[in-house]
Amino acid sequence: MDLFEYQGKQYFARFGIPTSPGGIADNADEAVDRADQVGYPVVVKAQVQVGGRGKAGGIKIAADAEEVRRHASAILGMDIRGHLVRRLWIEHASDIAAEYYASFTLDRAAKMHLGMVSARGGVDIEQVAEEDPGAIARLHIDPIDGFDEAAAARLVTEAGLDPQAREGATEVLVKLYRCFVEGDADLVEINPLILTPDGRVHALDAKVVLDDSAAFRHPEWEEFRGLEELDARERLAREKGLQYVGLDGTVGIIANGAGLAMSTCDVVQQVGGSPANFLDIGGGANADQMANALEVINTDEKVKAIFINIFGGITRGEEVANGIVQALSRVDLKAPIVIRLDGTNAEEGRRILAAHESDRLVSVPTMLEAARKATAMAGGTPR
Ligand code: GDP
Ligand code: MG
Repeated sequence: MDLFEYQGKQYFARFGIPTSPGGIADNADEAVDRADQVGYPVVVKAQVQVGGRGKAGGIKIAADAEEVRRHASAILGMDIRGHLVRRLWIEHASDIAAEYYASFTLDRAAKMHLGMVSARGGVDIEQVAEEDPGAIARLHIDPIDGFDEAAAARLVTEAGLDPQAREGATEVLVKLYRCFVEGDADLVEINPLILTPDGRVHALDAKVVLDDSAAFRHPEWEEFRGLEELDARERLAREKGLQYVGLDGTVGIIANGAGLAMSTCDVVQQVGGSPANFLDIGGGANADQMANALEVINTDEKVKAIFINIFGGITRGEEVANGIVQALSRVDLKAPIVIRLDGTNAEEGRRILAAHESDRLVSVPTMLEAARKATAMAGGTPR
């Protein structure tokens, strides 16, 4: 689960990471109230879960109430790379002597935590990584050993932070690592981490991705849940307990198993189609699950064809086929279905489907052919 900047800063605060005093506002009046409370000048910041808000005009400094009102009105309702701004974070503006970068994430390939620090903060870190990879100091951390102050100090020195920032940055890093581990995050990122002219180091931005698998031990995460940026499709899928991620394409995808669902997205893309979603209906693909999945995809206006890709393992082919046939009688589908059914009892499953074949339900034996068929049915030209 991704957090908004203001939630990330609240999360940071639990671990003692310094941030600027601020408050949220959902309209211009509230923005002025918050600004009056924290003291001028303030920064008016769009709360959307996408980076580069500054460049997009979603972050403005205001010297007085009149300016806060003007910026708040302009930023609320703004579209930042496809994200509608509904909420602002108003914080006391900081004077900046230097902008740095700090993060902890998982390096799955190395099976380690990865800490990164750079003296080139405030800008797009991917760009720094490309142009000047040496400007980012990296440290692999064995989770068993952890990360102590000495390691933090080395990382800070290696990154070449200004001498007067080193002590403060070291302290922040130790706290940030605790936030990452004890806070069960997949990513914690501060960009920029700033040095103020009077020598303080604090977080000016916050990006936190929480590990959903750890949600059971964090009842307090519920408060974040309600505010997640889900679109209508994703909300419905969550209600129905489906693993669903909305995408922008025209081929709706249903598969059993996350790996197969991802491969299905890839194959559709590879043959020149565009997936409308990722949807994993899980192990036993019964009629209920299939009907739920089809219902979610049916709400997606962009979907022009549905590709159901099932590989029967424990789930037998004829069960899946019966499930699809039953689901079809329950959901009034707007788009035609291409199904590829393979694995355990696939033959029998295909026989059941054959009895119901039409131009709205086509069974194709291989994944690649099915992807081409679905792409063509969605109006594309398959490769
Ligand atoms: P992002 O563009 O979405 O990453 O948003 P950030 O919160 O990182 O802000 C972008 C940039 O705005 C920062 O790198 C700063 O240069 C600037 N900025 C943000 N807050 C302040 C502030 O309190 N004072 C000053 N002077 N600049 C700020
Ligand atoms: Mg930033």
